[in-house]
Amino acid sequence: MSRISFTEGQMPARKRIALIAHDHCKTFLLDWSLRQRERLAHHELIATGTTGVLLAKHLGLPVECMISGPLGGDQQIGARIAERRIDLLVFFWDPFEQQPHDPDIKALLRVAAVWNIPLACNESSADYLIGSPLLDQAHSCRIPDYSRYLAGRT
Ligand code: PGA
Repeated sequence: MSRISFTEGQMPARKRIALIAHDHCKTFLLDWSLRQRERLAHHELIATGTTGVLLAKHLGLPVECMISGPLGGDQQIGARIAERRIDLLVFFWDPFEQQPHDPDIKALLRVAAVWNIPLACNESSADYLIGSPLLDQAHSCRIPDYSRYLAGRT
């Protein structure tokens, strides 16, 4: 039997979108975000340090910047996901390079899966996410309920 059940939650119309790109992917994210600027402008943008500074400059939109990724920014985004303070994650991670903070990246991807967060890892998946008719609507969503999992551990 599954250890997880779901409860019904609410996604706000104005989404909290986290954006991260590794160094070799930053240009892709900047190009993509400029192409999607109109859509992104209706939402709250949060990013790791360097990505955030570049995005704010490139888009002319407010971006809440965490610490730089290798210094703990991915973990800050992960913590917000666990606190249900991020609704969507766009993370252009580099499939060709090891990163000094690989454990943090793995942890972030894991916590996004744990909390059923929509996640895009490249331009085409990001287009699907940002093009969803749900993006600008408040809607119900399924939030994992881990009480049975936790009960089995005590
Ligand atoms: P950065 O971090 O935006 O500070 O470059 C991204 C990352 O490597 O996770």
